[in-house]
Amino acid sequence: MGCGRPVAVTEEYCPECEGKKRNHDGGRFSFSYDQIAGSIYRFKYMKRPAYARGYAKVLCREQKEWFDAINADALIPVPLHAKRLMTRGYNQSKVLAGEISKLTGIPVRDKCVARIKNTRPQKQFDRNERLINLKNAFIVRENVVELKTVIIVDDIFTTGSTIDSLATELKRNGVERVFFLTLSAAGT
Ligand SMILES: [Zn+2]
Repeated sequence: MGCGRPVAVTEEYCPECEGKKRNHDGGRFSFSYDQIAGSIYRFKYMKRPAYARGYAKVLCREQKEWFDAINADALIPVPLHAKRLMTRGYNQSKVLAGEISKLTGIPVRDKCVARIKNTRPQKQFDRNERLINLKNAFIVRENVVELKTVIIVDDIFTTGSTIDSLATELKRNGVERVFFLTLSAAGT
């Protein structure tokens, strides 16, 4: 019900999600972390954006029922900070969203959100302050009220705090339901 990690039939949430307040509406992933971690590393850091095509094929095939059920209005890739985008050359989440869009017909709305610079590094904060710091990491730059349901696209679901802070910001601006789709989740 939370991150999409497999759980026993009697459980709704995995240990990572249990008891956590979330602002997103759940999500899906298709690859085991152990199997895909090396591939994702090359996809992100070693100029292999073409991997996105194969990833998208698997995601769209395996999650077809989920896509049909939630009927999303837009795919929103998690934005990179402008500085990081310059050094990396491309936003891997945007490339992945583009390939998913080709297969599903759901438009990509990557311009509507931006990652803004954090004024102080995360490690200076305690846990509570970190959440506040991350909460202000994204801004919505375009009118998104016409979007009822969106899917945030990212490469890996780790603790979910990035997706959650982006979801919070989107809902604050009028989006009703915010799901996520990633390649994998850490620890799977
Ligand atoms: Zn979970």
